[in-house]
Amino acid sequence: MNVHFLGYTGSIQHAGSANVSLVVEEGREVVLVDVSGAPVMEMLKAGIDPRDLKTVLITHSHIDHIYALPSLIHQLWLMGREEPLVIVGNRETIGKARELCSLFGLEQKNRMFPLVWEILENGVYGSLAGQLRLIVFPVPHGVPTVGCVFESAHGKVAYFADCTADVAYPEVAYDADLLIHEAGGLCEDSAILAGKGHSSSRQAAEAARMLRAGRLVLCHLPSEVSMYQLMLAEAQAVFKRTELPVLYKAYGCEKV
Ligand SMILES: [Zn+2]
Ligand SMILES: [Zn+2]
Repeated sequence: MNVHFLGYTGSIQHAGSANVSLVVEEGREVVLVDVSGAPVMEMLKAGIDPRDLKTVLITHSHIDHIYALPSLIHQLWLMGREEPLVIVGNRETIGKARELCSLFGLEQKNRMFPLVWEILENGVYGSLAGQLRLIVFPVPHGVPTVGCVFESAHGKVAYFADCTADVAYPEVAYDADLLIHEAGGLCEDSAILAGKGHSSSRQAAEAARMLRAGRLVLCHLPSEVSMYQLMLAEAQAVFKRTELPVLYKAYGCEKV
């Protein structure tokens, strides 16, 4: 199982990255988690053929996680896609995603491939190919939001999308080989971050320690790149195996 970041910033992009989204691939199954930036271009940069995409998980309905969905569907249609595309999310998110697509009349387009909308608030999504399992669970944020775990025979990845630190961690999130956790800023700003539904880099590291993660990659980072080394140091003081995200590269999920 490999994970590739297609973007890693929070709501405001910078010259080096679009908003956070990532791809999980295991064998023939390719899952896009959140849809921002320029997903077709970014998948190509990560060495992934967009035509292989089968499933999209949208963690919540905030604009930085959902806005590129109509463009993604439009491009796949223009490429001649015929296979269904499954879009998974909680009820609120799927409602917004369908509204967004209906604005452009996407489902009415001639020979549009089937869009399969799957509402999942909490639990296992059982329809992925091969051995890959996707489990979602609610996390605290400004709107209904899910975190997720992908697991296969080759490892486990846990992704805590936008969330405050007071998460009721589900059992399945423990012992991930790779934990990807949002970090909106430094510990000194944690009260402000919490007020906006976010966590600090220290809180992400505390989560990694508590969840016995193999390693931690921070994401949903602020647009001020100058903060990154401070955030990394703050997190590493709590959880040494913390890294900043690198776009497009393949993060393997083997034990470290
Ligand atoms: Zn966000
Ligand atoms: Zn959000």
